[in-house]
Amino acid sequence: MRMNRRMATYRSLIRSTTLTVRALIRTPHSPRSFRPLTEPATANLSAPHINVVIKSWHSTQANLNISPRNRNSPTGNNPTNKMQVSCQCGSVTFSTPTPTPLSVICCHCTQCQKQSASAFGTSAIFPAVGLFPLSDALKSKLKLWTRPTKEGRSMDCYFCTECGTRLFHRIREADGTERETVSIKGGCVEGLDFRGAKHIYVDSAVVDLPEEVERYPATPPIMEGRPSPSGVGDGGGKGLGGE
Ligand SMILES: [Zn+2]
Ligand SMILES: [Zn+2]
Repeated sequence: MRMNRRMATYRSLIRSTTLTVRALIRTPHSPRSFRPLTEPATANLSAPHINVVIKSWHSTQANLNISPRNRNSPTGNNPTNKMQVSCQCGSVTFSTPTPTPLSVICCHCTQCQKQSASAFGTSAIFPAVGLFPLSDALKSKLKLWTRPTKEGRSMDCYFCTECGTRLFHRIREADGTERETVSIKGGCVEGLDFRGAKHIYVDSAVVDLPEEVERYPATPPIMEGRPSPSGVGDGGGKGLGGE
């Protein structure tokens, strides 16, 4: 009899917890919570209260998209919800142009092994607008080294003048046009989620890769031909790949 009462208590506890969890899951993902975007966006944008609604919607989106680790980190709660980037010594700090990257790449080419001083390089690809043009304050803490890539392109590689940490790369076409994306080095981006990263130039990989990762011997087909959507994998030749 006592056992039955205890079981009933457990069942009741589990039922109420389940309902609470369901309610919590439904709240941020419910399509209804996204409705304010379309309504005020087509209405009077100068109304202050509507701008607040739009800002709050963007914040919600950013919160849903950033990785759990970043969401829980102190900087993950920054007002813009953009990710924070910093070098090893902390002299260089800036925010990512958007709250989340367009893609995340692990490049195993020998150039990336050199630049990262490690087994492979990592890149979080972002739109360049928002970081470029570089502010004077940021430029004063960076040094630029440019290397040629295939087909007459060049890669601008920025690093901290104090500690030498490589922070980001940007490719320029042969005619000097700067690519629309910037490759921020993954290890410098706080809270970056590497799950689902594409591994490229795995022909020269020096470590074993987990079976489940998306991989390409060199440049993925989607990046072949120009312009590359991600700004990586531009080496072409053996050992001149990616970032
Ligand atoms: Zn530094
Ligand atoms: Zn590479």
